[in-house]
Amino acid sequence: MDDCLFCKIAERDIPCEKVYEDQDVLAFLDIHPINPGHTLVIPKKHAADISALTRADFERLMGCVHALAPIVKKAVQADGINIGMNNGGAAGQLVFHAHLHIIPRYQNDGFRHWHGNPYGNGEIRAVAEKIRSAVAN
Ligand code: 5GP
Ligand code: ZN
Repeated sequence: MDDCLFCKIAERDIPCEKVYEDQDVLAFLDIHPINPGHTLVIPKKHAADISALTRADFERLMGCVHALAPIVKKAVQADGINIGMNNGGAAGQLVFHAHLHIIPRYQNDGFRHWHGNPYGNGEIRAVAEKIRSAVAN
């Protein structure tokens, strides 16, 4: 993709602080980290988001995340790690080349999780039914 920032990073047209690379996957530091060591894991081949990735592509990405997360945690002496993936503008995706975030976290680092909302009466079962019937098809 000519106009994709992460394709340009994967092709080394734009520099990055690489922390890991193999044939399919590149991992580098986020330029605007939640905490230092915040790492992005991308497929080298362009795909806009999770729905554009094959299961094999996604498993390769997640394999890299699984291997790197404890390494990053230890290297920056974090207390915990968040793994995240934003898919779609409504979900906060800013760069439309699929990527996973490995985010080091510290006790009392001030970053909050989103708040949940309660379901209305009977709503949880109706929503579960929708998803179950979609899974079955
Ligand atoms: P998204 O919201 O799409 O999941 O996150 C995109 C991430 O890419 C952001 O956390 C942002 O800081 C990071 N980012 C944006 N531009 C660059 C860049 O040029 N280099 C690097 N290393 N990270 C970037
Ligand atoms: Zn791309």
